[in-house]
Amino acid sequence: MSQFSVRSFPQAIVHIDADAFFASCEQATKPHLKGKPVVTGKERGIASAASYEAKARGVTRGMSVFDVKRVCPEAVLIPSDYEMYSLFSKRMFAIVRRYTPEVEEYSIDECFADITGMRRVHRMSYERIAGAIKHDLERELGMTFSVGMAPTKTLAKVASTWHKPSGFLSMPAREAHLYLAQLPVDEVWGIGGQTASYLRKHGLETALVFANANEHWVREHLSKPFRECWCELRGQLVHPIETESDNAYQSISKTKTFTPPSSDEAFVFAQLSKNIENACIKLRRHQLAAGSAVFFLKRNDFQVRAVETDLPYTVATPHTIIAQAKRLFKRVYKSGETYRSTGVILSRLTEAGVHQRDLFGADECVTKEAQVYEQVDALSKKYGKHAVFLGSSMQAINGSQHRGGRGEGPKRHEDLMKGESKRQRIGIPLLGDVD
Ligand SMILES: [Mg+2]
Repeated sequence: MSQFSVRSFPQAIVHIDADAFFASCEQATKPHLKGKPVVTGKERGIASAASYEAKARGVTRGMSVFDVKRVCPEAVLIPSDYEMYSLFSKRMFAIVRRYTPEVEEYSIDECFADITGMRRVHRMSYERIAGAIKHDLERELGMTFSVGMAPTKTLAKVASTWHKPSGFLSMPAREAHLYLAQLPVDEVWGIGGQTASYLRKHGLETALVFANANEHWVREHLSKPFRECWCELRGQLVHPIETESDNAYQSISKTKTFTPPSSDEAFVFAQLSKNIENACIKLRRHQLAAGSAVFFLKRNDFQVRAVETDLPYTVATPHTIIAQAKRLFKRVYKSGETYRSTGVILSRLTEAGVHQRDLFGADECVTKEAQVYEQVDALSKKYGKHAVFLGSSMQAINGSQHRGGRGEGPKRHEDLMKGESKRQRIGIPLLGDVD
């Protein structure tokens, strides 16, 4: 098969990706940095972004500051300014929305836009609309963007990376095979190392060979996400643009009442921490990740105080969320008040895996945490929920939800026979406390 469709753009999906985003924001706001090797992430000691000048000298994202200085002594190291990056990000999405309401904010510096049917509105071809978006973004934000247009999200991703930086590629369905033939299968969006080596083992080395694989074979051998990927490579849209309003009502919440009510700060926080852990278990069970969180405390007189926060990147594991909760806890907790329950609402949910993205260059630690939690989930399956839990939740998990009076929680722990394991519980605080 040499082509997947006779129509060029059954749908016109544009993928827009800012080049070296954090570094570009710094250069856009500090003109004296233009043309210089700029590296952000100084505060963490790890490069969160490198300008193209720094990349040309061998600096890569995730590199330690020590190595950055070694390969590029003239590098300008800057602490990350996420607030500013978020502002640029908001402007970026607002500019894209001038051309279509169908915009999916995929990460801080990337979005998908569906411009299908907009030719008449703008009196422009799809290529010209995509070009105009790129032009506006670059002129108004003072940095370059790589833009790809194709009939599906997966193909649009291929197109935008083709000529990075400041690239533009329109990839009609009937030309997709020309690009896919040159693309190693592991560079396809959503195909991880394991799947790639499985596909290679079956002789599917390039994206094109994979896209041409027999449908029966694909059904037999691949799980849903990869079958969908196969469809998308063939120009069949299976991942629609998820606009914010589609996602807005999706949330996962966990709340729990404890008796008697408590004014013990550490205990109340442990309750919140436990709710966050439980909400994350649910997230992972549904293969979702959250982008923002609301923490709330309910007082004994049923008054609720809540605080909302955006998470620095989408996560399905509790560490980052608990750290955020700790930082904001004083906004909801007042000493002297008594509380009867705590809760968390996680929102801006996206599909984990395909959609889970690192927004602030923290891939490494997020990936590690995700790996740890794969093990945690496996242990929980075997030994029961909370076999392993965070130190910050200990007071809530080891204690009872209802001290004295009702509830049968503590009984089963007190009644342990000598030598008996603590009711399917390993009970080691995981990863220490969150600071
Ligand atoms: Mg980018």
